[in-house]
Amino acid sequence: MVGCAIARALSEKWEDVFLLEALPKLGLGASSRNSGVIHSGLYYRPGSLKARHCVRGNHLTYEFCASHGVPHRKTGKLVVASSAADSEELSALAENGRANGVPDLRIVDRAAIRAREPRIEGWQAIDVPSTGIVSSEELVRAYARVATDRGANIVTNANVEKLERSPDRIRVTSAAGEIEARCLINSAGLYSDEVAGLLGSKMAEHKIYPVRGDYCELSRAKADWIRGLVYPMPRSDGLGLGVHFTRTLWGNTLLGPTARYVGDKNDYERNRVSVEEFAEGARLLLPGIEAADLAPAHSGIRAKLTPPSQLSSGHFHGTGMPDFIIQRDPEVPNVVHLIGIESPGLTSAPAIAEHVRELVAEILA
Ligand SMILES: Cc1cc2nc3c(=O)[nH]c(=O)nc-3n(C[C@H](O)[C@H](O)[C@H](O)COP(=O)(O)OP(=O)(O)OC[C@H]3O[C@@H](n4cnc5c(N)ncnc54)[C@H](O)[C@@H]3O)c2cc1C
Repeated sequence: MVGCAIARALSEKWEDVFLLEALPKLGLGASSRNSGVIHSGLYYRPGSLKARHCVRGNHLTYEFCASHGVPHRKTGKLVVASSAADSEELSALAENGRANGVPDLRIVDRAAIRAREPRIEGWQAIDVPSTGIVSSEELVRAYARVATDRGANIVTNANVEKLERSPDRIRVTSAAGEIEARCLINSAGLYSDEVAGLLGSKMAEHKIYPVRGDYCELSRAKADWIRGLVYPMPRSDGLGLGVHFTRTLWGNTLLGPTARYVGDKNDYERNRVSVEEFAEGARLLLPGIEAADLAPAHSGIRAKLTPPSQLSSGHFHGTGMPDFIIQRDPEVPNVVHLIGIESPGLTSAPAIAEHVRELVAEILA
């Protein structure tokens, strides 16, 4: 997602753009294994890259989807507090969103929750009208299509294996061949720390810890128990936004993602969260849900910068939610690294791409 959005932005200005993808197809990593939510920017620390790029990315993503025929819908979402004890935290979250420039946030009561989502049990909620859903696979393809139409070269089966620096060039050796690059952008998702390592860069010290999120799906008969997007209060440890309900563009309803550190960046299946555990967690907001109503669905792996030992507790945007790292390499200034591009990376991609275009313009000036 992010690489394709960058290729699109760079191909507007420069001719010789190459995107190298290790796998046979684009978007097989986190970019198609997510919730497909166009986030509003509610949760992130004011002034952070996450907050700025999410709020701008929200606007740019809707604009791009509308003008390129990418399936999407501005559904709005409810962030639901289950009891009066959460009221203060809910107000603080809404204030945080306002500070980030998220438009039209309102706190609504139980009756308003019920009018929107008749099956949801809640005390109060934040109504977030600017949130929506998108087909992430189609969005990746559309960014890539615009980039190639403008002359960018997208090469799949091109795992980058070696990077050698010379004063004004980076020699890139990939499974598909070699390139002498004036500028290199490391946007390798879960592997961006390892790609920085190929360069012998200190940026590799920003280690990525894979945190898997499992999803399950509500049976067809009960899919309409949810009409839009319903989120719980965010987790206080910064590991994620909590298991939420998403009525997708295709009419099915997903629950997830959970959050669990895994030892392997390819571990999508081992020790999945059981449907019983999903049902138990979900019952707080959706009473009456049973394990028999649920079937396991996909999973995705977050590129986390926080080691398990440093999870925060308390406030929703504590240190457990570090910012995106987007910067030129201090030792190799013609390289830009993007590390820790977890959620809201899908939403932020076009804004991240604008940011990277500025850094590339500095490099090639
Ligand atoms: C469970 C989950 C739910 C999420 N939900 C949302 C959401 O609802 N909304 C939202 O905004 N964000 C969400 N996100 C975050 C979002 O999906 C990611 O931030 C975004 O997809 C990251 O895109 P990316 O291009 O950086 O990473 P990736 O999609 O992982 O792409 C990186 C690519 O680099 C390639 N690569 C790696 N190493 C090499 C190499 N050596 N050589 C060549 N290629 C290489 C990989 O094969 C991969 O295709 C979610 C993430 C997860 C895991």
